[in-house]
Amino acid sequence: MRGSRASAVILMIVVSTFLASGPSSLPAVAGPGDPEPASLVTLSVPDKAAMERLVASGADLTERVRPQADGSVQVDAVLTPSALAGLKSIGVGLAPGTPPAAKKTPSATAAQDQIVIERAVWYKSRDGYFLSVEASSSAGETAALTATWTGRRGATGQVAMVPFVDAGAYMGHQFSTPSPVTAEPQRVTVTSATGGKAEARVREWPDGERPDRQAPGYQKDFVTQYMPPAQLNERIQALHRRYPALTDIIQLPNLTNGYRRHAQALIGTPPGAAIVVTSDAYGSEGGNDVSVELAAPGAPDRPLQVGVNGRQVTVSLATDGSGTPVSTAAQVVAAVNATAGTGVKAAAYRTDPGAGVMAPAAATRLTDSLKAPADVSRAPMRVLALRVGVHRDGSRTGVLAYAQEHAREWVPPLVTVEAAERLLRNYARDPATRKLLQRTDIFIVPTVNPDGANYSFYDFNSQRKNMTNHCPAAQSDPAQRNTWGVDVNRNYAVGSLTDGYFGASANCQSGTYAGPAEHSEPESRNVVWLAQKYRNIRFAMNVHSYGGYFMWPPGAYKLDGRVALPRPSADQEAYFMRSARTIEQAIAAERGTVIWPQQTGPVTDVLYSAAGNSADELWYDFGIYGWDFEVGADLWNSSTRTWEGVGFQPPFEEGHAEAMEFASGLISLVGVAAGFRER
Ligand SMILES: [Zn+2]
Repeated sequence: MRGSRASAVILMIVVSTFLASGPSSLPAVAGPGDPEPASLVTLSVPDKAAMERLVASGADLTERVRPQADGSVQVDAVLTPSALAGLKSIGVGLAPGTPPAAKKTPSATAAQDQIVIERAVWYKSRDGYFLSVEASSSAGETAALTATWTGRRGATGQVAMVPFVDAGAYMGHQFSTPSPVTAEPQRVTVTSATGGKAEARVREWPDGERPDRQAPGYQKDFVTQYMPPAQLNERIQALHRRYPALTDIIQLPNLTNGYRRHAQALIGTPPGAAIVVTSDAYGSEGGNDVSVELAAPGAPDRPLQVGVNGRQVTVSLATDGSGTPVSTAAQVVAAVNATAGTGVKAAAYRTDPGAGVMAPAAATRLTDSLKAPADVSRAPMRVLALRVGVHRDGSRTGVLAYAQEHAREWVPPLVTVEAAERLLRNYARDPATRKLLQRTDIFIVPTVNPDGANYSFYDFNSQRKNMTNHCPAAQSDPAQRNTWGVDVNRNYAVGSLTDGYFGASANCQSGTYAGPAEHSEPESRNVVWLAQKYRNIRFAMNVHSYGGYFMWPPGAYKLDGRVALPRPSADQEAYFMRSARTIEQAIAAERGTVIWPQQTGPVTDVLYSAAGNSADELWYDFGIYGWDFEVGADLWNSSTRTWEGVGFQPPFEEGHAEAMEFASGLISLVGVAAGFRER
């Protein structure tokens, strides 16, 4: 019964997401007590400087960033209509159906430039052959580069390249997306409009080590639906009960704040006189039972008075000589806050300085506005890790996989539980799996941010952050509730906002709010605790969605001069890349999804700066090879011949396929760890 009701709720949310997910118009503004609806949209950003301003604005960007042929950038974001309107001032708006194709023309007198081909690769996915070329010109971003490829039997084609500029630094030219080609490319020539030319052989991608052969009867495919946190925890506990000799359940020490908030009411009519009343108790702990009435005494010359009867607060408004109420919002706020035992605090509404006279109002019940069924716990949550391995004593190389730092990412938890279940179910029958469990010590955290995840499942599917509101009263009225919370993956202490790094916000309503301090949130402290407590952990996979990336440190830079955290040594970088190619090989084996070469690399090279992220802390403070998956690679639409983003909560059929392929990738990472020798 419970399961079917939960899946009905989930299905409803998926449908609404899907309707809202196109790069289309945004719905109308809601009433003053309600949050504005937010939508997943594709933005067009005119150039990299505007992209920088967009990141600095703290807008809720996804990881799907696509440079365009004209030097502009398209990026998916979750925005309300007013947030979108606010972006006009920095020159950012909705992307049109088809991107403009204007090209910069270099001056005819420019000197011949030098061209270096950095990488030229082809791959074959389920959609056919694709080519990707990265090259740089001594003329920099103004160079107009074209790649011409040739293959067997006279096959050939041409692709225009686009400059990639990040934080003012020219990073080279690339294809805006991998380009479909009619045959396997063998050689490529890159030419510039000013005469530069370079040639290279095209290599296969990812071309990593092939995964171990699986024994006959190898079992997989254990996830059948998106799972809210309670179901994820039940699943790993069930695995522990079934395989007690191979697993432990680790209770992480920091309880979350809980899927709960204080109850509130907006009384009055903005933009006129209005107040916000907030319960001291959480809604689930009595706050939802409180009601507040603004009563007209019906007699002249009465003073302003506040009375309490059980959970009912009655404000008797002051009257003038004719019996008309005259109490202003500021006076009502002061009277309520000066009265002991009301169980509430009042504040003037953000658009009202408090001078307006409050009208009488019938008793208004406060509410926390949380919509999950009553059996979804409102209490602080214990975050769980499933430890998997034959020797769970610190003697084997540890691998940490943790998902759902960002609440709305529903596929990543499935990646982790699918991988865990494959390892356990196949231990007895598959020698390769047995080797992995003998040589490694695996820590799986399916949901780092369960409170936010519940909010995403039951209330606001675009929720990215946790549930803890650090905003002052002026940013805490009920209509703002969908903007509260801390971005867990900006709350870490290495390369952080407070250290001066770029790509996190100090605004409590921003999608990338870093929190009031480094490690202020239990969710981030839990991840750090694992790294501190289990020093054998040498590898970590931070699983996110969507966009199809595979990344590693450095993940943050200072904007001025684009000074990144120190790069790993050349040897370590080569190890990151070689391991990534092996892991991407395993991902591709599932359904032919190839992670693009231009989306495989250090975060600061392939995406944007993300101050205070967890992979950086794990690498720089603990020496853990910290990777990030962005599952959910773009899907090729063969009729429009374009790549399309999959979104955070695709129809389950697609989410399931992503879980299958990235679970294979995660198991391949365990294989990398099994072969690890200290370098
Ligand atoms: Zn994420």
